[in-house]
Amino acid sequence: MDPILIAGGGIGGLGAALALSRAGHPVRLFERAAEFREAGAGIQLGPNVFHMLDRLGVREAVERDAVRPDALVMRCAVHGHEITRVPLDGMPARFGNPYAVTHRADLHRSLLEACQSRPDILLETARSVAVFIEDAQGVTVRLEDGDCIRGSALVGADGLWSRTRQVVVGDGRPVVSGHIAYRAVVPMDSLPEAVRENRVTLWAGPRLHLVHYPLRRGEVMNLVAVFHSDHYAEGWDQAGDPKLLWRHFDATRPEVRDLLSRIETWRYWVLCDREPRRGWTRGRVTLLGDAAHPMLQYLAQGANMALEDAVCLADQLRVHAGDVAAAFAAYEALRVLRTGRVQTMARVFGEIYHAGGVRAELRDAWLAGRDPEAAREGMAWLYDRPRWPGDAG
Ligand code: FAD
Repeated sequence: MDPILIAGGGIGGLGAALALSRAGHPVRLFERAAEFREAGAGIQLGPNVFHMLDRLGVREAVERDAVRPDALVMRCAVHGHEITRVPLDGMPARFGNPYAVTHRADLHRSLLEACQSRPDILLETARSVAVFIEDAQGVTVRLEDGDCIRGSALVGADGLWSRTRQVVVGDGRPVVSGHIAYRAVVPMDSLPEAVRENRVTLWAGPRLHLVHYPLRRGEVMNLVAVFHSDHYAEGWDQAGDPKLLWRHFDATRPEVRDLLSRIETWRYWVLCDREPRRGWTRGRVTLLGDAAHPMLQYLAQGANMALEDAVCLADQLRVHAGDVAAAFAAYEALRVLRTGRVQTMARVFGEIYHAGGVRAELRDAWLAGRDPEAAREGMAWLYDRPRWPGDAG
């Protein structure tokens, strides 16, 4: 049997390799980078992703390093008051799974090790997919180094700047949001006692916010500072100038500025997404994760969605046994409204976090009156386990 080819070895590509292999398909995965590596720092895991971790057989490994915070807390970055708080201890009772945070390198490593333990997954680094040709029986991929590889299908998990997408969808460049994320991880014991809490805290301010939460059993703190700027073009994972960050956070609370001032080395990301759309499948080729539906990170769901995609894709291959094109079409049809909703709502949440003036007052008044159960219920559309044909777990 020709293997299913995967372009990209991020969280989405490795998740897909694992899901497909566990469903009985041999896989050959090409990663452009010289080694498997996950850039960035923390990642939030909603209850919706835990069923996927179970299905992929990596839950135990992921939970070993993850932290379960007590609450999500939103505070005003300008005046300091608490805007709202969602306790997280009720998540397992309501959604059957917890809310957790982890280092993305730890999540990526758990997936990688699980892939490496399976003889039917061939992982190749420093192998960049250049182009592909599809026919009725399969797909031939040409790599940058000139090699041509034959597979039964191709999954483009090659991220925001996906080349596979350029052939399948051909819709040009992603939307540059003008939102810049500065990220850092610092040892917990270098921070003041008052901020060493086991919670996800979001300081919301006009056109900016700061999020921090503990990682690696509470040994380090993850910080993400976001502000609006048209100063940056398309940078990704580069060293960020702290002075520029401080200037944007000039008018924020001393607690916020104190936290920012303790970090010397920041990396920055220019945040991009796309309008949701159909059409990311063509015959035996489909897209997955950020290649299919890149989203702003304000719902903390991009990687969660990629892992849902991975499990759904493998399930559709089982349901449509032998008919890859039908399985891929079913996969897209099952995923497009859910991922499109998250893409859309992520932008809305960004507006809510970054509100200023009267809009900020309206937000605070609206959120102040909410009880925690209603807050939790308001997220059921996202955190409830998604259902699709063939989900055996
Ligand atoms: P990527 O991680 O981009 O992986 C693509 C891979 O493909 C890369 O390894 C790349 O080298 C490789 N590649 C590219 N081109 C080729 C080629 N031609 N041939 C071969 N290989 C190629 N998500 C969450 O779920 N929770 C969060 O809390 C969260 N927080 C975030 C915070 C920030 C600031 C940002 C920017 C994102 C956040 N996300 C979060 C989103 C999440 O990081 C992404 O959605 C997720 O990592 C996408 O995974 P992916 O595998 O689809 O793409």
